[in-house]
Amino acid sequence: MKILKGQPVVGGIGIGKAKFLRREKTIAPPKIIKGEEAQQILRLERAIEKTRKELEELKQHIEKTLGKEHALILDAQLLILQDKKLLEELTERIIKNLDSAEKAIKALIEKYHGIFSQVEDYHLREKIHDIEDILRRIEKNLGETALEENWAQTVVVARNIFPSETAHIISRGRPEAFVLEFGGETYHAVILARAYGIPTVVGIEDVEKEIKEGETLVVNGDEGVVIVSPTPSQISNYRALRETLREEKEKLKEIFKEPNETLDGTPFSLLVNIEFPTEAEAIPTGAVDGVGLFRTEYLLLLSQRVPSEEEQYEVYSQLAEKFSQVTLRLFDLGAEKKIADLPFHEEENPALGERGIRYLFSHKDLLYPQLRAILRASARKRNIKLMAPMITNLEEIRELLLVVEDAKGQLRMEKKPYDEKIKIGIMVEVPSIAMLVERAAKLVDFLSVGTNDLTQYIFAADRANERVSKLCNPLDPAFLKLMRFMIKKARDYGKEISVCGEMASRPLHAAVLLGLGLREFSVSPAMLPIIKKVLSSVEENVLRKKINTALRLPSGREIESYLLKEMEKIYPEIYRWIRRVCHEKKGKALGV
Ligand code: PEP
Ligand code: MG
Repeated sequence: MKILKGQPVVGGIGIGKAKFLRREKTIAPPKIIKGEEAQQILRLERAIEKTRKELEELKQHIEKTLGKEHALILDAQLLILQDKKLLEELTERIIKNLDSAEKAIKALIEKYHGIFSQVEDYHLREKIHDIEDILRRIEKNLGETALEENWAQTVVVARNIFPSETAHIISRGRPEAFVLEFGGETYHAVILARAYGIPTVVGIEDVEKEIKEGETLVVNGDEGVVIVSPTPSQISNYRALRETLREEKEKLKEIFKEPNETLDGTPFSLLVNIEFPTEAEAIPTGAVDGVGLFRTEYLLLLSQRVPSEEEQYEVYSQLAEKFSQVTLRLFDLGAEKKIADLPFHEEENPALGERGIRYLFSHKDLLYPQLRAILRASARKRNIKLMAPMITNLEEIRELLLVVEDAKGQLRMEKKPYDEKIKIGIMVEVPSIAMLVERAAKLVDFLSVGTNDLTQYIFAADRANERVSKLCNPLDPAFLKLMRFMIKKARDYGKEISVCGEMASRPLHAAVLLGLGLREFSVSPAMLPIIKKVLSSVEENVLRKKINTALRLPSGREIESYLLKEMEKIYPEIYRWIRRVCHEKKGKALGV
């Protein structure tokens, strides 16, 4: 038995066998020598088989989560894969040109690329795009040890993990927990784990040496503790605790029946953040006022391809059917959110690089189909809002408004309906636009504060780097002052302002935001009940005064301990919940 201490980022207890995330990439030479042909063809056949299995699984997943009609595209791809001509053409290149399997695929992609650029027919172009997509998948499966297929009930152990990998793992069975070396509260894998309520501990040094594949782990996401090879009594204690926590969380859902208002009658709006349309299914109707943030880039990250305008239109329309309002954020790609199908430059500082709206403005072929899909979906119930990520200055807002007008113009010409009055908003997550918030508010309909990025840029600390991510403290007086300023300015101009960063999903922080004047909270799905419980159990006028006092303190740590003490005095029940969810329970982990 051994105990590892890390940083608690998603609460709860997970018990399971350690399973490592491995990605080994073999670099293949472009040419082979005579006699190696059969081996290359065998590799190719295996990769094709693996791709077929992957697509079958993806199809089942999409059928289950989005419905049969969405899976049609995969049927088309499976047919292409079964087409003998594809293997024949690749085999011929291997035999005749002595190309490696990778080179043969690349050459075929280039060939289709050439054809693609000359074809005008929309349907034919889509078909060629599908063939390319298949070829890229086969190529990927040649070189990489694919991610293990079933992650249910395992504890995923990794040094770092990309958003696309996390999405892939979660879609293939819910793991018991994540144990990572890198990361912080707002690391993308952590955001996803939180959305699904999967206990997570980050910052475990030398995780790959400390833990061995297959070892039993108890992950205590409330304390940031990982027990390696626990004793039988520790396992049974933790199982019992896991059950109690589950029951408590279930009971808490009763709160959804209550109105969205504080104890002293201040109304607030509770929205949800989602990454996959499936997350929306688990949310009881009536529990939320809508989707405050759909991170649409996960549509790409999960399938590793760019969905067509039609596919996007279907997904957005279905969300609009289910919720009374839906805020669709344009693809926030770049930094660690990338797919092989799209071109990205090597960057020294990716977080400060071409990401979010910057990437979309220089890849209009990606931007326009998305704008058109959003606009078309907005026609049905007129309840869709469009939001742009990583806006830096007012010029970018003007450009955004222009491209939206342009896309509307295209649809008018094609006689396709859309909501003329669709609300356009921006994420406030870059300090420069936060400082110009009142001028931004004049140009757009709404603002949503991305505290995950805004803290990383304000404190100059990488949100994904566990060594410095603690500096991204939203309770730091510098950050609270900025939040108060922004909320006031937006409200002065009569514009809606919400927080969709993780700050709104943390109980104490949500209460602080209420005291700072915020009325719209967009929250991670698994955190909805607790945030609702906190907001509806406190008085706005009490918090406002407490925050004013807190703001005079010199550090985030002091502000936090002052506010916790006050909460304990005034709202003891809420204090207990905050303690639990904020991983600050005193005392030792069970049996340790
Ligand atoms: C944010 O930055 O706070 C945000 C909501 O966006 P993301 O976490 O997807 O970068
Ligand atoms: Mg962001």
